[in-house]
Amino acid sequence: MKTRLLGKTPDELREIVATEGLPAFTAKQIARWMYVRKVRSIDLMTDISKAGRERLSEKYEVGVTGYSGAVTSSDGTRKYLFIPPAADSASPAASSRAVEAVMIPDGDRATVCVSSQSGCRMGCRFCMTGRQGFHGHLSAADILSQFIAIDESDSLTNAVFMGMGEPLDNYAEVMRAIAVLTSDWGFAWSPKRITVSTIGVMPFLKRFLDESRCHLAVSLHDPFPEERLSIMPVEKAFHITDVLDLIRQYDFSGQRRVSFEYTMFSGFNDSIRHADALARLLKGLECRVNLIRFHRIPDFPYGCSPDAVMRRFQERLNSAGIVATIRASRGEDILAACGMLAGKSVI
Ligand code: SF4
Repeated sequence: MKTRLLGKTPDELREIVATEGLPAFTAKQIARWMYVRKVRSIDLMTDISKAGRERLSEKYEVGVTGYSGAVTSSDGTRKYLFIPPAADSASPAASSRAVEAVMIPDGDRATVCVSSQSGCRMGCRFCMTGRQGFHGHLSAADILSQFIAIDESDSLTNAVFMGMGEPLDNYAEVMRAIAVLTSDWGFAWSPKRITVSTIGVMPFLKRFLDESRCHLAVSLHDPFPEERLSIMPVEKAFHITDVLDLIRQYDFSGQRRVSFEYTMFSGFNDSIRHADALARLLKGLECRVNLIRFHRIPDFPYGCSPDAVMRRFQERLNSAGIVATIRASRGEDILAACGMLAGKSVI
């Protein structure tokens, strides 16, 4: 099996070219071809000598994974299916490794929502990805493939790590992908174009806040710890109050933003009492709350709150000084909306 070059830094590429007896500047050329020109074959890197390309190709490949299926929603949202290559013979079957990326057009914005793991081990009860269990971490090459291989690759304006998996549970590879996206030698995106979502995996959250300037989205979903625990097992290890104490130590009044995702479950977390408790929890924090429509899944007892209840909840938060918006649901007809990704379905 050949080694994938995608996701490697210029320093790592320098080591590779030195081992292959090629000049040091070849590393810069490879990075430019992969990250600026986005070519998928070493053979297309035409300013590297033919002999050099042949030598590299014996052991290495760029390693972009193409998508294996795509489907478009009536609202223009497009969902792509990817099957990351097996790491070894013990890797789960292709159907279990499958992940999805969703491209969401919105006016002059085109946002890609990418996956960071095959399945997920966090076990949130309302989430289809959580239901399917954990099948493996994605490598940085697998994550970057979702940016490069989709049809809208050249017109993307933003990215959210909100697809399958908990990004901070795959910290090293997610940060490696972000380094490629935000470095001058890489895609040269501003970190302001990227939002990483987490349910609050504390040790890695601290590292993320220290080491990155990307926006943060925290899946909160319930202000009361016992209730949150009943739908999100992570609350047992990392209490939401401690997550918020940590977040308060960082500055979100400038370029960097923090938002809180709150999925509305009818009769569970949508009362005025919940809105007031949420407002108390977030008091003094420069943030936004996104209220999300829930898409009912099997064996979870709650459906989505009615529109009027969502609006009442939103107004209660707004009047307590918390900016809250009801997020438009996208791609529902192709199972691409929040919590519906399961790597199967309609493709
Ligand atoms: Fe994992 Fe996110 Fe689903 Fe929870 S909501 S199970 S963290 S993918």
